[in-house]
Amino acid sequence: DVAVCLFSSDLRLHDQPVLHAALRAAPQVVPLFVVDTGIADAGFMVPNRAAFLAGALADLDAGLRERGGRLVIRTGDVVAETGRVAAETGAGEVHLAAGVSGYALGRERRLRAELAAAGRELVVHDAVITALPPGAVLPSGPDKDHFAVFTPYFRRWQAAGLRSVLPAPRSVRVPAGVRSEDLPSARVLCPGGEPSPALPEGGERAGRRRFGAWQRSGMADYQDRQDDLPGDATSRLSPYLHFGCLSPVELVHKASARPDAGAEAFVRQLAWRDFHHQVLAARPGAARADYRDRGDRWRFDRAEVTAWQEGRTGYPVVDAGMRQLRHEGWLHNRARMLVASFLTKTLYVDWRVGARHFLDLLVDGDIANNQLNWQWMAGTGTDTRPNRVLNPLVQARRFDPRGDYVRRWVPELAGLAGAAVHQPWKLSGPEREAYDYPDPVVDLADALVRFRRARGQE
Ligand code: FAD
Repeated sequence: DVAVCLFSSDLRLHDQPVLHAALRAAPQVVPLFVVDTGIADAGFMVPNRAAFLAGALADLDAGLRERGGRLVIRTGDVVAETGRVAAETGAGEVHLAAGVSGYALGRERRLRAELAAAGRELVVHDAVITALPPGAVLPSGPDKDHFAVFTPYFRRWQAAGLRSVLPAPRSVRVPAGVRSEDLPSARVLCPGGEPSPALPEGGERAGRRRFGAWQRSGMADYQDRQDDLPGDATSRLSPYLHFGCLSPVELVHKASARPDAGAEAFVRQLAWRDFHHQVLAARPGAARADYRDRGDRWRFDRAEVTAWQEGRTGYPVVDAGMRQLRHEGWLHNRARMLVASFLTKTLYVDWRVGARHFLDLLVDGDIANNQLNWQWMAGTGTDTRPNRVLNPLVQARRFDPRGDYVRRWVPELAGLAGAAVHQPWKLSGPEREAYDYPDPVVDLADALVRFRRARGQE
């Protein structure tokens, strides 16, 4: 008797309901990862995520080998390949984590049909990728298939109660003779383009180490330091959560067991992650279409968009963020917010342009969190203050008061001390010329008037 455990965004052994169920269903299990050509065709496989994924797969394989098993790798259409592996091994069941994106739901449907045609069953597991399954808590009233406001969602989320944490399996028996390809390198996963120079190491072990360190130092002060740009005091666990190297259920249980306000604030952020997933599950179209149409007639100025992408807008705190993104494939949440506000409100460029650029670079790039946070910032999403504009100077003064974040990422301004680094245009003529740094692409006051008019606020 054989079962297939089809890994997706759940590349771990600890608290792994899919593998756990497959091991209970049959004495022999095929731990399968299909390098899905559909994901590459959709333009979603980019060098940074490919590099992290290659590490995560190698780590998963090593963990399975320690338990007497191994990871089976195949390349192709995920549905066809999984069907083939099931047929080759005579597996009766395929186990898979429930996804929320339109792509994941389509894959699930096709796979169920393909397997059923051969007399096999697809078993889908909830609360693997999110802590609470989308739809587990719903607002009252008819037609309410998701929460559009976070606070009431969070109250219900807290009261809902999570499933308990599952132990990692002691041993995994893989049927003999199952054909596997070699573990893919980043290059094989994504042949074009170079990864960013300072990416985190992929995999469950690296994720657990990081979480351990975060629990020992970091989490306790999180609520006070969460927005401190130079302090860089957030967990940086998002790539591990995106690929499922860490279980959100396990993280919430561990943080909730602590009395400190930092742990509480951290759990709240994990609930934000679930919140966006439940919006996307109910409105898969929000990956592309405005969640709320504000009648925007977006501008598009190639030179301005390029300046934003390359970190040359002339607003140092914006440019610092855009350069960090390119260098690390990651960005602090406060910086994501202010660069997104700058693009969509100050430059009044379509949020989809920014979301695409983020997805091209972010290691944690995720349809639910990325598209819906972009919509939130653009005011087309679930934000209850859609016309709020983040002024980059005010943001810089509040969250980088001494200018250290800017000096780290915009080295050509490193000669400017303190907060003066935020306004190089204020320097007198010859002094200004000494700095090889662009003038602001836009005047903030003019931009604000333009945006308010466009949104019918004036
Ligand atoms: P921490 O502050 O340590 O938070 C812990 C965890 O909570 C994070 O790892 C993340 O999983 C979750 N979380 C925190 N804030 C949010 C949030 N606002 N929405 C959803 N989950 C959250 N996050 C992604 O994982 N992938 C994305 O593609 C993504 N795109 C974003 C785009 C924009 C424009 C904005 C404003 C935010 C985006 N975020 C995205 C959310 C957030 O910025 C990142 O999750 C966070 O910065 C990751 O850093 P961290 O792990 O140190 O977070």
